[in-house]
Formats: sequence, structure tokens, C-alpha cells
Amino acid sequence: TTDDQADYLSGLNPEQRKAVLTTEGPLLVLAGAGTGKTRVLTTRLAHILHNRLAWPSQILAVTFTNKAAREMRERVGQTMGGAIEGLPWLGTFHSIAAKILRIHAELVGLKSSFTILDTDDQIRLLKQVIEAAGIDSKRWTARYMASLIDGWKNKGLTPDRLGADDGFTFADGKGVEIYKTYQDRLKVLNAVDFGDLLLHNITIFQKNPDVLKGFHDRFRYLLVDEYQDTNVAQYLWLRLLAQGSNNVCCVGDDDQSIYGWRGAEVDNILRFEQDFPGATVIRLERNYRSTEHILGAASGLIAANKDRLGKTLWTEDDGGHKVTVTGVWDGPAEARIISGEIENWASKGRSYSDVAILVRASRQMRNFEERFIQLGLPYRVVGGPRFFERAEIRDAHAYMRVLNSDTDDLAFERIVNVPKRGIGATSVRKLQQAARTMHISLEQATRQIVKTDEIRGKARSSLRAFLLDIDRWRRESQDAKHTDMAERILDQSGYTQMWRDNKDAKSQGRLDNLKELISAMGEFDTLEAYMEHVSLVLDVDSGPQDAEVSLMTLHSAKGLEFPLVFLPGWEEGTFPSQRALDESGLAGLEEERRLAYVGITRARELAKIYFAANRQVYGSWQSSLPSRFIDELPIQHVEVESEANQYNPSLIADRVQEDFGRSFKRAQDAGRSSPGWERYQKNRDRDFGRQPKEIEGHAVRRPAKGKASNYSVGERVFHTKFGYGEIMSADGTKLTVEFDKAGEKMVLDGFVQRASEV
Ligand code: ATP
Ligand code: MG
Repeated sequence: TTDDQADYLSGLNPEQRKAVLTTEGPLLVLAGAGTGKTRVLTTRLAHILHNRLAWPSQILAVTFTNKAAREMRERVGQTMGGAIEGLPWLGTFHSIAAKILRIHAELVGLKSSFTILDTDDQIRLLKQVIEAAGIDSKRWTARYMASLIDGWKNKGLTPDRLGADDGFTFADGKGVEIYKTYQDRLKVLNAVDFGDLLLHNITIFQKNPDVLKGFHDRFRYLLVDEYQDTNVAQYLWLRLLAQGSNNVCCVGDDDQSIYGWRGAEVDNILRFEQDFPGATVIRLERNYRSTEHILGAASGLIAANKDRLGKTLWTEDDGGHKVTVTGVWDGPAEARIISGEIENWASKGRSYSDVAILVRASRQMRNFEERFIQLGLPYRVVGGPRFFERAEIRDAHAYMRVLNSDTDDLAFERIVNVPKRGIGATSVRKLQQAARTMHISLEQATRQIVKTDEIRGKARSSLRAFLLDIDRWRRESQDAKHTDMAERILDQSGYTQMWRDNKDAKSQGRLDNLKELISAMGEFDTLEAYMEHVSLVLDVDSGPQDAEVSLMTLHSAKGLEFPLVFLPGWEEGTFPSQRALDESGLAGLEEERRLAYVGITRARELAKIYFAANRQVYGSWQSSLPSRFIDELPIQHVEVESEANQYNPSLIADRVQEDFGRSFKRAQDAGRSSPGWERYQKNRDRDFGRQPKEIEGHAVRRPAKGKASNYSVGERVFHTKFGYGEIMSADGTKLTVEFDKAGEKMVLDGFVQRASEV
């Protein structure tokens, strides 16, 4: 047929091709890592469009992260030979569910302008509910209640579906009651939390057959990636929608199920044939990603799990490097050695973006971040301490939310006294009380109360001024651009000034983040579009863009691949985590092992595992044992690297010195000062009792105080980073140069050349 000649099919193996061409009826692709599941899904989407089996708007495609959705959009575009329009229903479970809920919000008693609360808001609100119920919120924390509620929501359980016993773990059985009240409060606030998105969808579908029918008519094809990690609510949602066309294709790998702790049910994938009668199941066995050694190590490791289907994997990429296992002295040493390896890689002309460091817990990131900053090595934390979760960003968002709505109590409360306006906790409590008794929002109540003498003095005058500001901002926002408006609000509210006045070391970073925020907003046409995006970006950033090393948790690495993968911290208590070790059953440990399998199988060319003999855990040093997973790696695929030197303090001293030399050069190249080098110089005698020697091979010339520069004012010079420029002034070896392109910079004379000699 003509299909078989289509370009996008020619690169596929027969099983993959079958998975792409079997468009009608339920289909499960169950296969190991790197076998092309995601590629099959993408090609299938392209195939459906290419053959006009459906319009882009008739395809529902679910990915696990926003990043994956973006990638799929791009890949489909490539396959189709150009950008494709539409695909409005390609996204994460959450983003698609939010879209559906906006259309039908009134069916669950919400307005379509509902706000999506983040974890912080959720906990704030729960705390209020718990306190109002007269429960000791120190003993029964809002955080704990939030996890109970999330658990219920992940299982598709609304309060009315719970028995009285279900809340027994909270405040002597008051859990279910709190859950009910919390849901009521959300409704009053016209808000939902993450779990609600799917849950409300399910309620809407179940109670309104005509609405469901509408979606059945719409969605001709449904596609789901990473199916092994769907939870019950997601599964119920999918099944309801799939009942229409029955053309549902799921791909997944039971060995990569790593979200059990978040309610994912690997059973969903094992039950697929029962749930979707007449389903075709296709297995893929050829791995296209990794070398034989990487695949062998990963397969050997996962074989230690009892609870699995088991599958064969092979690759034509025979040989390659063995997986390395390296023991190091401690965390900082680990970071130092890995950084060295990365520099090595880069010096061979390979890109930083080829490299990923995958950690078990985000606390492991700090050593790396510090080291990278010191060395000036470009890196990016993917999905880590998220940009949008930082305090200053959340404050700014609260201002935007207040601008948008006079009923957003949580946002109003967050900023009413930030920056400080002299509105203390007592005043805020008074406002809340007024809001409750009058059944109106906090802002509305404030408007009433400032007309009375309930609140006096400074608090009253600042509240009045604040309300006038809000009125003005709302008026102005009718015409002004949303980014200008945001800047204006942050300025006029005194928020930006608050951080400028703050002498904390992190303040500058916060101000930078606020700038970054404005540019993030600029990517959207309206404030509403931006806010919708924000509430949905679980995995914030776009991932590695330019040449940057990716630093991320194993969980967020799912589905990705990198030529060079570092796997640090393979120690008992870190990986497997202490939590899994403390559990009685094997389930936790098996999930950790699957996580290890995910980690190794991200690598295309090289996978490098590390363990440290000493680890600082929550501030105190502990000696640690190598992870049991290391023992489980089949020896023929592993090479144990000798790092005996790591244990020798005097050799470490040499190494540190050399490292700082490099750090220094890099910092100079980038026109920055090098605090690491300065600190090192200060401490070197005390720590190592010796003089630093000349650092060879790095072209580093240390700045010598008092020595005059070789260059004179007015001379033209060349700098590798900044290009050509003219010397404006010289202070010892420090030159102030006006560069033609880069503008005025302070550089060291050791790093410039005479223009005439270039
Ligand atoms: P994971 O389980 O990690 O999500 P996956 O099964 O989704 O992996 P993909 O990411 O789709 O695997 O593919 C892994 C790599 O193999 C990708 O680089 C992909 O482009 C490549 N690949 C897949 N199929 C083929 C093929 N038929 N020919 C060449 N390369 C392929
Ligand atoms: Mg995949």
C-alpha cells in the first residue's frame, strides 16, 4: 500500500510499523526502555493525520509531562515535514482535564474562571479548615491531611464515596469531614486543586451522558504514553473517554513504573486486555538507545525484581564502554570528580547538553550546583526547586491573581501585608472573621471594614491605600500590556523595593527571578493565558536548551535520553532510599530498583555510577555502604574504577588546587571574580601547609598585587570572550576595557592579547 512507502514508516521495524498501522481498536505496546514506544506513538499520530483519519482536534494525546508534550508536538511536526496546526488535545492529564473543566465548570458548581491552587495554597486553606473545626493543627497537620486528600483523589474518591472509616487516621476519624468542608470551601472560592481536575471531569462524565457523548464524538483516537504510571483516577477518566471510538493506544513498560507512591497502579497496564476487550498487544524487543553493556547492566539489575512480567531486550549496538562504578571519599569529592569528567567530555568537543546527572533525592543536587557554579560550568536544574514555586514568584503571582479577581482570598491574604504595610495578624484575623460572617470574600470584606472603626490607625489607612492601588491597577489593566502592568504593580506596591532593601545574599537572585518572570509572561498574549500555563506547569522549564548539563531527579528523567549519564549517590539509605528500606514489604524496594533501571537506561553511550564512603545527611556526617544495586549489576558489564587517590588527603589537596586554578580561569574568561580561588588562597596554608605551585596547562596567571600591567591605556586588545576593545584604564594587572561589542568590562591583563598580535 502507499502507507508502507510513506517516509515516516520506512525507519521502523516490523513490530513498530504494525503498532503504527493498527489504528482501529484498542492497542497496547508493552515494551522495555528505549525500544521506541514514544517514537511509535508519535509516528502513529503523524500517520493518522497524514491519512486524514482524523483532524488534529479529534486526537487526544496524553503525555506525562509538559515537556514530553512539547517534544511530541515537535516530533510530529518533523515527521509530517513541517509545523502542524492545532493538536489542541495534546498535553498532560492535568492540562487536558483543566481544559475540559473550563468548558463545563458549571456542571460541578464552578465558574469557568476557577483558579487552580498549588500545594502551598492547598495547605493554607486546609489549615484554616482544620482550625475552624477545632482540631489541633499542630498535632494533625494540614500537610498530612493534604496527602490523605490527594490519595483519595488519585483513587477517584469524592467525599460521598468514602465510608466513615476511611478518615480514621486523621484526628480520630474526622478526616472525611475535613475533606467535605475543604471541598465546600473550594467551591465557595471558585477554586480547584490538582486532584480535582480529573475528579470533576469524571463526575461530569458520569452525571451528564450527553456531555460524555459529545466527547465520544469528538475524540476519534486516543493515545497515552507512560501508561504504567497512570493512577486510578486517570485510568477511570481515560476509560470513560475511550468508550466512544474504542481507538485507544497505550504504551508503557511495567519495569518503569515509579509513581506507586503517588497512587499509580501498574495493574492498569497488566489489566489492559481485560479492560479493553479485543485489544491487540504488541511487544518491542529491540532497543535503539543504548549500547550492549548499558542494556546488559540494566536488564541484569531489573531481573532481581520478583513482581514483573519479564521481557527480552537486545541491541545491535554491541560493545561500547562498560558501566563504570566508582567509589569516592564523600559528596564534595563526588561532585568534583564528576565535574572533571564533564570537562573532559567537553574538551573532546562534545556538548554539555549531552550530559545528565540523575539523583535520587533533590538534596543531592546542592554539592553539584555549588561545584558547577564555582567552575562556571553551564548547568540547569530540570524540574527541581521550581522557578514558579519560589517565594518571590508566588508573591508576584498573588498580585496578578488579585488583579484578576476580587474573590481570590488566598492570594489576597498572601500579599495584603507583603511588603509590610502595618497590617498585622490581628487585623488579618479580623478581616477573615468579617468575611466569614458576611459570606463574602476577604477583599470585599476589607472594603466594608475600612469604612468602619473595627480597624483603626495605621492598619486602616494602609488598607485603604492598598485598596485604592488595586482599583487603579484594575482600571489601568484594561488598556495596558500585561507585562507592563505586572512591572508597574510590582513597583508601585513596593514589592520590588522590598527586595532591593533586603540585604540577604539571595535578594539579588530574587530580583533576577522577578525579571525572568516578566519575560516568561511575555511569552503569552494575556495575563489569563499566562496564569493558566503557570498553574499547569508541573515540570516547569523547557529542559536543556542551549549547551547545559542537566541536573535532575531520576523521576523527572523518565522518557528522556542522554549520551552520558552520571548516577551518583548509590548508597544504602540514599538509593535505595531509607524509606524503602524501612518498609516491611518488598514493594518499596522493587520500586527503587525500577528507578535504578530507569536511570541506567537513560544512557546512550556511557553510564557512570558513584558511591561515597561518607555522606552528610541533614547536617551530620555518616559513613555509608555501597548500594545493594551495585552488587546486583552483572559483572561482565561493569568496570570498577579505582579511585584510591580519592582517599589520600594530600593528593586531594593537589587536586583542589588544580580545580581552583581552572575555576579561576573560567571565571576570568566570563569576566567574573572567582570567590572560590580567593577563598582557596586564603585557606591554603592553614589547610594544606604548602604553597600553591604554578598551575600548568591552564594558562592561568595569578593576579599579582602591585605588579604593573604589560599594557597601556589606549591600546587595542583582544579577549577570547569579549572580542576587541580599547583599554580605558589600568589598575595593576586589572584592566578596564571598553569592548566594541560587549561594552565596558574589567579584565585581567593575563587574559588579553595585543590586537596587533592576534
Ligand atoms: P522509554 O521507555 O525510555 O520511554 P521508549 O520506548 O519510549 O523509551 P523512544 O524514546 O521512543 O523509546 O526511543 C529510544 C531511541 O531510539 C530514540 O532515540 C529513538 O529515536 C530511537 N529509535 C526508536 N525506534 C527506532 C528505529 N526504528 N530506528 C532508529 N532509531 C529508533
Ligand atoms: Mg518513551
